[in-house]
Amino acid sequence: MIRIAVANQKGGVGKTTSAINLSTALAATGKRVLLIDLDPQGNASTGLGITQAQRETSSYDVLVNQAAVEDAVVRTGVPRLDVLPATVDLSGAEIELVEMEQRTHRLHRALDAAPPRWDVALIDCPPSLGLLTMNAMVAADSLLVPLQCEFFALEGLSQLLTTVERIRARFNPSLSIIGVALTMYDRRNRLTEQVSADVRAVLGQVVFDTVIPRNVRLSEAPSHGLPALIYDHRCSGSQAYIALARELIARLPHVDEVAA
Ligand code: ADP
Ligand code: MG
Repeated sequence: MIRIAVANQKGGVGKTTSAINLSTALAATGKRVLLIDLDPQGNASTGLGITQAQRETSSYDVLVNQAAVEDAVVRTGVPRLDVLPATVDLSGAEIELVEMEQRTHRLHRALDAAPPRWDVALIDCPPSLGLLTMNAMVAADSLLVPLQCEFFALEGLSQLLTTVERIRARFNPSLSIIGVALTMYDRRNRLTEQVSADVRAVLGQVVFDTVIPRNVRLSEAPSHGLPALIYDHRCSGSQAYIALARELIARLPHVDEVAA
């Protein structure tokens, strides 16, 4: 199972929107996908229509109580897409984990012990660089970083990269950045274009060619408990996520090789 953490310690940059819609697009191509909700807000779970009652066992239990991943996973309405849901309990985990053994490796160990039921796992991280995000970075093969096209887009990125370096040095030497995705792109706004050009100049090839436009359908879909890709697959946002998923797949190690 290939594991990709969707991470950026800034809030509201499109992590959850990207995690939901990339998961859906990957599932549509035939991959068996597990979306791991590691944000106490549980937006990825809610956005996929998972009710509170369906979250009896959650990512909190997997991290803190050593519950098995397969016992906590919930099926979504999207074929081949399962979710490991989050509850508000997870906000306490950040503190509870500090005292625990192997506090940075809890998710890694849980995923290693999970049955080979999925080809790809996407981990939706909270907006911080605390122990939850560290667990995701230790467990992951690579990071996908959504970056909002705004003036301060690159600010904060150095902090993220420093954390990645620390994780590499101490725990996970092969952690890579599979790509940076520019989100909330507004063609009518000059600043957006400038920011996108600057980001590409600084980061180069790691930035995906596809940009995700600002599109109201993307923000409406979660309130219907549906990925935008299903709520309105024709909208510009959905089409962009399909193109982004295609680029992502091209950067993935071949799933069969990984399984072998
Ligand atoms: P994060 O998980 O990084 O906090 P979200 O994916 O939850 O960010 O996005 C923050 C808010 O912006 C949400 O209300 C979401 O619906 C909205 N949003 C995300 N991406 C877009 C976009 N491309 N166009 C319009 N709204 C978006
Ligand atoms: Mg989020």
